Amino acid sequence: MNNWAEKDLKYIWHPCSQMKDYETLSPIVIEKGEGIYLYDTDGKKYYDVISSWWCNLLGHCNPHISDAIKKQADTLEHVIFANFSHKQAIRLCERLMKILPKGLCKFNFTDNGSSAIEASMKVSFQYHQQTGYPKKTKFMALTEAYHGETIGALSVGDCDLYTKLYKPILMDIVRVQGPDCFRCPYGKNRDNCNCECFEHAEKTFEKHGDETTAILVEPLLQGSAGMKIYPPLYLKKLRQLCDKYNVNLIADEIATGFGRTGKMFAFDHAGVSPDIMCLSKGLTGGYMPMALFVTTQKIYDAFYDEYNTGKAFMHSHTYSGNPLACSAANAVLDLLEDGSILAQAQENAIYFNKIIKEKFLSHPNVGEIRHIGLINAIELVQDKQSKKPFDGSLRTGYQIYKKALMEGVILRPLGNVIYFNPPLIMKKSDMDYVTDIARKCLDSILPATNKCVK
Ligand SMILES: *Cc1c(COP(=O)(O)O)cnc(C)c1O
Repeated sequence: MNNWAEKDLKYIWHPCSQMKDYETLSPIVIEKGEGIYLYDTDGKKYYDVISSWWCNLLGHCNPHISDAIKKQADTLEHVIFANFSHKQAIRLCERLMKILPKGLCKFNFTDNGSSAIEASMKVSFQYHQQTGYPKKTKFMALTEAYHGETIGALSVGDCDLYTKLYKPILMDIVRVQGPDCFRCPYGKNRDNCNCECFEHAEKTFEKHGDETTAILVEPLLQGSAGMKIYPPLYLKKLRQLCDKYNVNLIADEIATGFGRTGKMFAFDHAGVSPDIMCLSKGLTGGYMPMALFVTTQKIYDAFYDEYNTGKAFMHSHTYSGNPLACSAANAVLDLLEDGSILAQAQENAIYFNKIIKEKFLSHPNVGEIRHIGLINAIELVQDKQSKKPFDGSLRTGYQIYKKALMEGVILRPLGNVIYFNPPLIMKKSDMDYVTDIARKCLDSILPATNKCVK
């Protein structure tokens, strides 16, 4: 452990960590970043194939984004966003509206994803209160959902690891049994199903639709659940069901937005629009903490009235619409606008998935390889046939993570799901390298015996 790591542990309580683990795996103090690489204070290089918690979209220290922030810092660093505004925010909304699913046109800014989720929940509730539906007081969300970690956002989530302990202080959520394509109870697969599992949503809406203000979904990709992927048809059906029961459809595109799934937004695959969409992570390319929700004219109009009617959305965050963050977001759009980065990423995604299948599918503990855009997930199982998962207490994923770190690759599995979610600019040669390392590390923890199945 070097000097910096020692000092770190003296002061810092790291997120999502059992701090005792740091006794055997000390904090890696990063000195600088460049593209998909990070360098620690000893000069060791790391491949950031998880985009630093899925937010780094176009590589570290991209000169165009860095310059935009520097320029903005010398012009205007922040201004109160009530009654005041600035050009960066206005430009950003004007540009986002052009690429967002149809109908989304009113933007409300927060400073992290969880806050955007909570703001969207409040706005949905208030919308129904102000349009004659006072009984709509409940929220729905899918099993294994993840929407953030503040108390409201945690409530709609359903990952035991984060929520279980806090249940006594969380909101009561109507839970919809969501899709589970790897272990599909209907014996179907993603390519040939008709979303038979949607019957759960139908039944739940029948029972609770009238008292529900909104359903939150992570479209197509339940990230924290282990990069679980489900077909766009599910979203199409959900759109219809929400219309039928006057329930707002809230799209949590915090992880899926900005090309992660191969299209600009995951909802684009389904060809329908949510009523509210939450964005963060890739929004600023991973440079500045910022989030927003964007909604329809219809919802906005339900708040628009004389002040004394009390219909305004009285929600605020000190750093709402921060100009530095908006300048980063505008710089990201500069880079994405002509579509060439997304097109290249899509082409590379085909290659990436191909080599991952070649290198991993034969391993006896690989249950499924699933992918969307550049995101590839490898679910490890005890047994290929029964798909029996590994006991979580073995921390198989964590052991692989530690091995890969020694080799300079940041994998950070979710339970027993190893995944890649790299910046869109990752090169094929880097894909070759990190997949070789990942396979090597997998083998060192779970040796592939000769009972390989093809
Ligand atoms: C990261 C994430 C959030 C929470 O965002 P924070 O900025 O970490 O609060 C919410 N939903 C999804 C799908 C996410 O990936």
